[in-house]
Amino acid sequence: MARDPRYDILFEPVRIGPVTARNRFFQVPHCNGMGTILPRTQAAHREVKAEGGWAVVCTEECTFHPTSNSTPIPDCTLMDDGDIAAMALIAEGIKRHGALAGVELVHHGLATCNRLSREAPLGPSSRPYLYGEPVQTRAMDKADIREFRRWHRDAALRAKQAGYDIVYVYAAHNLSLVMHFLARRYNDRGDEYGGPIENRARLLRELLEDTHEAVGDTCAVALRFAVDELMGPTGITKESEGREVIEMLAEVPDLWDVNVADWDNDSATSRFAEEGFQEKHIAFVKKMTSKPVVGVGRFTSPDAMVSQIKRGVLDFIGAARPSIADPYLPRKIEEGRVEDIRECIGCNICVAGNNTSAPMRCTQNPTVGEEWRRGWHPERIETKGSDSRVLVVGAGPAGLECARALGERGYQVDLAEASDMLGGRVAAESALPGLAAWGRVRDYREYRIGQMANVSLYRASRLSADHVREFGAPHVVVATGARWRKDGVGRRNPFSISGWDRGSVLTADDVMAGMDVAGPVAVFDDDGYYLGGVLAEKLRRDGHEVTLVTPDAEASQWTHYTLEHARIQTRLLELGVAIEAHRNVAAVGNGEVELACVFTDRRTRTACATLVMVTARLPEDSLYRELMENPQALADAGIESVTRVGDCLAPGTIAAAVYSGHRYARELDAPPTGDVPYLRERVAL
Ligand code: ADP
Ligand code: SF4
Repeated sequence: MARDPRYDILFEPVRIGPVTARNRFFQVPHCNGMGTILPRTQAAHREVKAEGGWAVVCTEECTFHPTSNSTPIPDCTLMDDGDIAAMALIAEGIKRHGALAGVELVHHGLATCNRLSREAPLGPSSRPYLYGEPVQTRAMDKADIREFRRWHRDAALRAKQAGYDIVYVYAAHNLSLVMHFLARRYNDRGDEYGGPIENRARLLRELLEDTHEAVGDTCAVALRFAVDELMGPTGITKESEGREVIEMLAEVPDLWDVNVADWDNDSATSRFAEEGFQEKHIAFVKKMTSKPVVGVGRFTSPDAMVSQIKRGVLDFIGAARPSIADPYLPRKIEEGRVEDIRECIGCNICVAGNNTSAPMRCTQNPTVGEEWRRGWHPERIETKGSDSRVLVVGAGPAGLECARALGERGYQVDLAEASDMLGGRVAAESALPGLAAWGRVRDYREYRIGQMANVSLYRASRLSADHVREFGAPHVVVATGARWRKDGVGRRNPFSISGWDRGSVLTADDVMAGMDVAGPVAVFDDDGYYLGGVLAEKLRRDGHEVTLVTPDAEASQWTHYTLEHARIQTRLLELGVAIEAHRNVAAVGNGEVELACVFTDRRTRTACATLVMVTARLPEDSLYRELMENPQALADAGIESVTRVGDCLAPGTIAAAVYSGHRYARELDAPPTGDVPYLRERVAL
């Protein structure tokens, strides 16, 4: 199909200093938990985006000196010439498809504690390391600053040698030494690098000039700058120092990559920020410089993108997450296939990968991180290996993805869903406050399946074992999901909680299904991810008195990894939800629950007409077990295999369910692998 002429503007080339981007799609630097520890994994991940039409594809943070090492989180590195080969591999992959390769040189300053190198961290002044470990920075003297400039310059030269077209100076988030020099709260120097903003910006200016001088003949010099830290006058604000920095340096970099800090503001989840949410902060920048400006905002709609360009907000549509969820986003717009875009849902599971020091995962794109080690391409999939028919039971994330991917392979697929709604848990959860965008997990797959003549969909079709046997498809996939348990068993409680079978106890599923809830309500969140917090929010908004009880120190503790924790805590407190932290539920009584301190076992009582259990889930695997109990009946029915996928196999994240369904589809009729089903990157000895 031809592209819609309304989107032509997105495909105009844009000059950045000495190089030219073929269009306006710009994958800004983003972490992916791969670093140069997994160079082939990293290279293949970035290459696929260049292939998918992004004009610029950047690495994540690239450190260049032992005084900044973020172990155990993997970064790219250009510390010495020995790092050039791995970085070149990444650049080659990107450039093979006509994209520009960008590298983001970073020194973490106060935001690193150098666990691997054991060097004292560096800062403009002596300050504690920002993230808890009992370590302080060494205040840099003038000789240190000179050395630092030399390291940065040498790294830029190595980047050029490795084939990069764009070299970043990084002063964004709260993760950069240069940002720490800029920030009054960290910089109390009395010399020409401290005091007024002109002085605090001196190092930034010097790095930009050094980089221009070192590599600017062939490489563009980009500046990533947080115009506002969203903390009022304690930090940089767009009204004062953020604006002044732009004014002072307006024409110095070849490109302005502007955003808001800290990372949780820049990568706000869809629960808390809508598409294009950064516009109100960064829109002024383009008026102050003639250089191209890139910004982000979880853009997935081409109309929103065009509007940004036409209204003079941005020159480039920057993206991290939308490029992860759909590496082919630009190509799909270019080829007039906008409906095929796999839109990011804004859940930050990708960020959680990096934050747990593991290669990134994505809820929408199960191939992320698997491009090299399993050879999974986000848009291409092996043609079917036989003419077998496949019956998929259950149309939650696992079943939908399984049916979609099998359908793309060309198999004849029948997808049966008990409910008249598709999506399983996603259908229920996307109706909760702030989670509407999660429905995209269903929408993308429902649309794709609807395009395939070889996939038949049966709604309102709850299948029994007899039905499955009667159907007689040679391969059966059981994707029947999981249910929240009612008895309170979970991480904290290995046995059921006394009184759990009282009528006043509901599960998360009961609440989502709309069962009557009487107040006051206690939500027992022993799960620790988002659901307990979201249900507390919903029930409070419904007008109930709500107490969130958690054995953890904070509500929704695991969401530290998805960068949502502070916002969730704030929202619950502002709504008036009482948070009982470090508390277990000891017993359910009449109109009350008994709570126990997790340290002292000291007991307290809280009034409670309804207790909502969010503790653990039980796989809905009765269909699977019934089928497997009678192998002869399976054989008689011509059924060769019955396989569980998703939550029915092991309850987990939506991302894990999508991956599980996808993996089944990839592996059907594929040659058997060994015990390790993927390639491993080994250290060469
Ligand atoms: P997952 O995350 O693994 O995809 P979900 O719980 O989200 O799991 O989805 C499971 C889906 O399976 C739900 O939509 C549910 O209605 C459906 N389902 C469960 N049992 C049956 C069955 N026997 N026949 C058809 N569909 C079923
Ligand atoms: Fe978007 Fe979630 Fe995928 Fe990250 S994991 S790219 S936020 S869908």
